[in-house]
Order: sequence, then C-alpha cells, then structure tokens
Amino acid sequence: MYDYLVVGAGLSGSVFARIMTDKGYKCLVIDRRDHIAGNVYSENIEGIEVHKYGPHIFHTDNERVWNFLNKYTSFNHFVYSPVANYKGEFYNLPFNMNTFYQLWKVKTPEEAKRKIEEQVIESGINEPKNLEEQAVSLVGKDIYEKLIKGYTSKQWGCDCKELPAFIIKRLPVRFVFDNNYFNHPYQGIPIGGYTKLVEKMLDGIEVRLDVDYLKEKDTYENIAKKIVYTGTIDEYYDYCFGELEYRSLRFETEVLDIPNYQGIAGMNYTDSETPYTRIVEHKHFEFSKGNADKTVITREYPNRWEKGDEPYYPINNDKNNELYEKYRKKAESDDKVIFAGRLGKYKYYDMDKAVADIFELTDSLDGRNKG
Ligand code: UDP
Repeated sequence: MYDYLVVGAGLSGSVFARIMTDKGYKCLVIDRRDHIAGNVYSENIEGIEVHKYGPHIFHTDNERVWNFLNKYTSFNHFVYSPVANYKGEFYNLPFNMNTFYQLWKVKTPEEAKRKIEEQVIESGINEPKNLEEQAVSLVGKDIYEKLIKGYTSKQWGCDCKELPAFIIKRLPVRFVFDNNYFNHPYQGIPIGGYTKLVEKMLDGIEVRLDVDYLKEKDTYENIAKKIVYTGTIDEYYDYCFGELEYRSLRFETEVLDIPNYQGIAGMNYTDSETPYTRIVEHKHFEFSKGNADKTVITREYPNRWEKGDEPYYPINNDKNNELYEKYRKKAESDDKVIFAGRLGKYKYYDMDKAVADIFELTDSLDGRNKG
C-alpha cells in the first residue's frame, strides 16, 4: 500500500514525489508515456538536447524554487532573447529599445515613449477589454500589427479580440537596450538536460511507465491512500460537466547537415501567413554543445485540440474558467484525489509556478498529516 499514487511523471509529479518521499511517505509514480519528465522531456540527438515538447527555458524569482532544483542540477547561463521575423524583417524581443530603434529609428527612451504614447492616444482605448485592446494600449498599433497580431492569432487559433488581455501581460516592455525575454533574476537550462534533472529527482522512487491510469483504474484506484493527478481534470471526471478547451501543438523536427541554421535558439514568425509560430534551434540553448557539423531544428505549429491530442495550453477564457470552477468544486469535496500542475489546475503555469504550487501543496499536506 502506497501513501500517494502520483499520476504523471512530469515536473509537478516528480517534485511532489521527491518531497513527499523525503518526508517519509511511500510514493508510486505512473505515466502513460514511455518516458519520464512530461512536457519538459528532452532527448539527446547528435549530442544536442532536443526539447521534444516545445522549448523550455527555466526562469524564476522564487529563491526556494531555484534552490530546490539546484540540488538536482546546475543551470547554465543561457538567457532567452528570441528574434521576431516579420516577413523577413528582424526585431528583437521582448519589446525594448532595440525593437523601438529597429521599428522607428528612435534613439532615446523619451522618443520611444512619445512614439508609443502617440499611437495609444490615437487608438482611443481607455479600458482594454480584450487582448487586442490591451496590446494596442500598451505598445501602440505598429508593434501590435507586426509583432503580436499574427503570432497570437496563430498561437490561439482565434482573433485577438476574442482573447483575454492577461496573456499578453506576460511579455515585458522596457525602455532600456535589454533583449532578455524574462525579468526574473534566475534563468538557465539544466546542464545535461531536463530529463536528467527529473531522473535525479525521481532517484529511488518507484516509477511505472506506459501505464494509463484511466484505462487501468481497477489496478491503481485503490493502490494508495491518495492520488495526486497531474493530467486533465475534465478527463479524470469523464467530462461530466463538459469538455474544457486546450490548445495543442505539432512539432516538426529535422536534423540538418550544417553547423548552424539560424544563429539563435528561438526565432518567432510573427506574420499570419507562415503556418508555424517559431523555429527552435536546440544547440543554442547549450552554446553549441554536441555534433559540430549538425544541428537540430523544430518548427512549431499551433494546432486545434481534439480529444486524444496532447493538450499544451489551457484556454483560460470566461467560458472555460466557469466550467473549470465546476470541476474544481467537485474535486474539493473529493477525498481521494488532489489535482496539480498545468493540466490539473487548468492554469497557464510556467515551470517555476508549477514547482511553487507543489511546495504549497506539500507544506499543507505535511501540516495536515502531522496535525
Ligand atoms: N506573443 C506575441 N509575439 C511574440 C511572442 C509572444 O504576440 O513574438 C504573445 C502571444 O500572444 C503569446 C504570449 O505573447 O501567446 C505569451 O508568449 P510566451 O512567449 O510567454 O508564450 P509561451 O512560451 O508560453 O508559448
């Protein structure tokens, strides 16, 4: 008999299992895939760590999260600074003095602010009600048209007017020449890869792969006192209130016989015609480690999600959030299961937030169990 059955060997599940095992609880981790690490999984091809489920750049301002992960890996000094490719014109991201100079040839923060202000006033938007209005009132129409509109509508599969404003608030706007995509003090890629990191966290913990909990409920339902479920909450409850919506992705990975394809880890295609949102060249996450004559690139195509596809992003609009609330309430009164992670919580979590969320959970469980 186990104390916890952890469904999902991704970042959330692995952190949970590690912490609770160290506190003396007996955990069993299962995953329906044939590998650990969930969506942070990386696979070594030609000596290059390939991020199989999309690029993952770890960044945080949470010292506890940073210190915890550093027990299992060291991080390199990679800083994410993607370039936007709009119909062959290149712009630095996130929106900063480099971008403003490239767009308008403005040379000082004051000139840049004035340019944006002019466009914001012209738009007449006071209270932004959706992503389009939020974006235009933040950075003006030029940036919106060239760097946001196409990318966002491809990414989410709908018009920017139909999307919630909060998505775009993730992106910083800076009046300094600084191309660091993130504002956090800690950033990097685990040396040796994400899979190694998760492997280390799961060291000494029983893991069974190729086990689909929902298909093998008879065996696993009562194997532990409690279940920590990191899959989709609506599927767990057999869609009893209806289906939540997700956004999916399709990846096209190629090994090329050249040393360097695009000279940068991430290039975003921000026009609406190019069908993919970005090309990732994996070797640049690790400063060209691996086979010097080859490179691995991945084109990332946003995809409509249908039952059975991999869900990547929760679509947190009002309709889905209301539906999720029903599932959350049901889960609250369910003594058997606790939901965690991006899918279990139906939240657009970054990796550090997912880990911090597990800390909150394990702290409270420990208190409760002791109490
Ligand atoms: N975004 C954009 N242009 C870009 C990159 C991002 O408009 O070149 C917008 C887009 O709406 C996206 C959001 O910013 O959904 C958040 O981007 P982020 O890079 O944080 O997305 P993730 O890496 O999680 O896919």
